[in-house]
Amino acid sequence: MIKIAIDAGHGFNTPGKRAPSGEREWSFNNEVALSSIAKLNAYQNVQLLRLDDPTGMTDVPLKTRTDRANAWKADVLISIHHNAYLGKWGPHGGIETYTLPGASKQSRDIAALVHPLVVKAMGLRDRGNKTLNLHMLRESKMPAILVEGGFMDSITDINVLLDKQKLKKQGAAIAQGLADYFNLRPKKGGSPHQKVYKYGDIGSAIGTLQKDFNRLGYKLIVDNSFGPAVLAAVKDFQKKHGLAIDGHVGPSTQSKMLEYLGGKDALYRIIINGKQIGTYRNTVNITAEIEKAVNNGEKKIEVQKVYA
Ligand SMILES: [Zn+2]
Repeated sequence: MIKIAIDAGHGFNTPGKRAPSGEREWSFNNEVALSSIAKLNAYQNVQLLRLDDPTGMTDVPLKTRTDRANAWKADVLISIHHNAYLGKWGPHGGIETYTLPGASKQSRDIAALVHPLVVKAMGLRDRGNKTLNLHMLRESKMPAILVEGGFMDSITDINVLLDKQKLKKQGAAIAQGLADYFNLRPKKGGSPHQKVYKYGDIGSAIGTLQKDFNRLGYKLIVDNSFGPAVLAAVKDFQKKHGLAIDGHVGPSTQSKMLEYLGGKDALYRIIINGKQIGTYRNTVNITAEIEKAVNNGEKKIEVQKVYA
């Protein structure tokens, strides 16, 4: 079993981490992370752990991130970032991949495999493999690399970063580099997660899908048949997560489901004065949000377990 810790850097609202035009670094990082996760899930014997808050609502402290990866005994840690130079538009740009100065051979080998694939996927300048004393690389006990997949404040790179297909390719490139390094084998018969399930389908895969939806808080009868109740659940899930509401369980819906099913911790929803402020896995984040709400004197603070 290969355990891969994926880290989309920062949080959506982290100050300063944005393009001059306002796009948030976390949004770019997240798109790449989701694509990597979807691709890596198509391989046998892979376990994934996401270290940032997948909702982006909180910027998980760096120490919490590396502590989780260390406690989980990850085999590798991939931190996904996008760069900035002076925070104002300029002609600079390109991709760089970092390891710690004096990093292990494993870290350097992984960086050497991943970096050229990311450069190729993004079609941006190759700034090379570099070393830097960064928390995520220094405090992680396993091989670790940090990818800076282009400059948010570059007049050339920004056009590529705003192309979601390019970010997906970057995620696929990272997954490919890891698959090469760990010699990962695709799941037999292709990944079940690459099929598209739709209304009228029957079979045990639909039963699994129904059980997965029940783990996500729905109450479906597991009868191996994609009927009206499943269709309603799919559309509801798609609506809640900002996906295209087509009622088909294709790659994007499956990858979003996996994101929520994949963690080993329960997911909690925090509701303040009747308004949901976010969903969290990490007890550290939950505690922080509750503390903040208490300090702000909020009247009604609710925590709901979305699923175990
Ligand atoms: Zn960053």
